[in-house]
Amino acid sequence: MSSNVSFKTDDGGGESSKTTIIGPLNFAKDTTPEPPTSLVNERAVPCMFCSNVYDFHSSDNGSDQYLAHLYLIHRLVVADVKEIACLPSYCYYWKEKFTNESVDKYCSAMLLNQLPDGSTSSKSEKYFLLSDIEPLDYELRQRLRREKLELVLTRHQFERTDRNFYRGCLYCRDYRSETRPEYVSHLYTKHFLLLGKPEHLVFVDELIDIVQEKLNQLLCLFCEKLFKDRPTLKEHMRKKGHKRINPDNHYYDRFFLVNYRLKQKPEYVPIAKRKEESRVFASDSDTDSDWSDWNGEEQTTTCLFCSHAETNIDRLKQHMVEEHKFSFAQTVHNMSFYQRVKVVNFIRRQMHIRKCIACGEQYNDYESLCKHLEEANHFLLDKESSAWDRPEYFFPTYEDDQFLCHLEEVENERDDDISQEEGSVVISESVNATINLDAESLSLESFKL
Ligand SMILES: [Zn+2]
Ligand SMILES: [Zn+2]
Ligand SMILES: [Zn+2]
Ligand SMILES: [Zn+2]
Ligand SMILES: [Zn+2]
Repeated sequence: MSSNVSFKTDDGGGESSKTTIIGPLNFAKDTTPEPPTSLVNERAVPCMFCSNVYDFHSSDNGSDQYLAHLYLIHRLVVADVKEIACLPSYCYYWKEKFTNESVDKYCSAMLLNQLPDGSTSSKSEKYFLLSDIEPLDYELRQRLRREKLELVLTRHQFERTDRNFYRGCLYCRDYRSETRPEYVSHLYTKHFLLLGKPEHLVFVDELIDIVQEKLNQLLCLFCEKLFKDRPTLKEHMRKKGHKRINPDNHYYDRFFLVNYRLKQKPEYVPIAKRKEESRVFASDSDTDSDWSDWNGEEQTTTCLFCSHAETNIDRLKQHMVEEHKFSFAQTVHNMSFYQRVKVVNFIRRQMHIRKCIACGEQYNDYESLCKHLEEANHFLLDKESSAWDRPEYFFPTYEDDQFLCHLEEVENERDDDISQEEGSVVISESVNATINLDAESLSLESFKL
């Protein structure tokens, strides 16, 4: 990555130099000794590259608009954005970096023959991926997660012992409790309303506000159906055993301490080592060969799930069926070329970071992951969630992933008519793949707007 691409800023970026290195962590700042009651992030977040500012608290998804803007205008995709503990701080940090340094230095780049809006009339458009493959990004994400956990634990400790919590019961008029644990226990023991074990909950005030609001709106907490009046709702919740919050609604995740647990990430593999690793994966002997001189025929391709490699892609696919009960052909049936690219990169990445490709469960090592994949029969893509269908998976996990060079052959097996027009797409600097251009759009659909 030698070319020096820098983005135009709308106004010369004169103001950004004042930003602090990491930006505030942005929990509500409170001058009272009471820890913040909720994870309130700073409202206004400036674009990493230009003077646009987004309101992350706006009702129309300011952060999604921010991410869409990064992609549409600056061609940058942030990987695993949902897992970033404090997105505003993350954005501030990178804005500061990009003020003085080129995007190429920290991002993976990729050339695609299409514009961000999906139109395919142009050639070799450059896109960037910002991910934890970059050591600074990895450190930043870890640090934000740690700091967030510390704040949550402080708040949790406070809520366990604070004796100034005077709040009337949701049901009975006269009951008042001094502490949050007592209050939550009262709801359960007297009214059979189960929010969670008091010691597992955090931001209890806000949780109770939400529960109260739902009940006022005559919504069942568990199935979230709407009822015509309070007695009918009460009867429904009692009869159906719906006196608890919907465990499938991720909106409640932040009230459970367990969700802030620092996930045990696999040890970080520096990029140089990743290259080495992928080199070992790709070819067994000719280590001195230059990347530019390979041709598809002689190259070996490595299995998506183990280190087994074959020069013949069909034999490799056979191996995956026999050893891992995974049929690549079935998995990507009816998928466009770009979707196939995403599926391969997704599986590679999940395997690399030791996460199940079906349920996303994290494992500490390769052996435990494999054990799970076999036992749970999870050598398959989750059809429901399209975890793989995100723009970041346009970018290869391994720089020289030969698997990506064989996707077109698969596509030719499809009998529906496909455009014969060919275009060259450079996936990262070293992987060339010739592709058909009936591309799905890399696009707006990826962002919930
Ligand atoms: Zn911008
Ligand atoms: Zn009560
Ligand atoms: Zn219900
Ligand atoms: Zn294998
Ligand atoms: Zn699984």
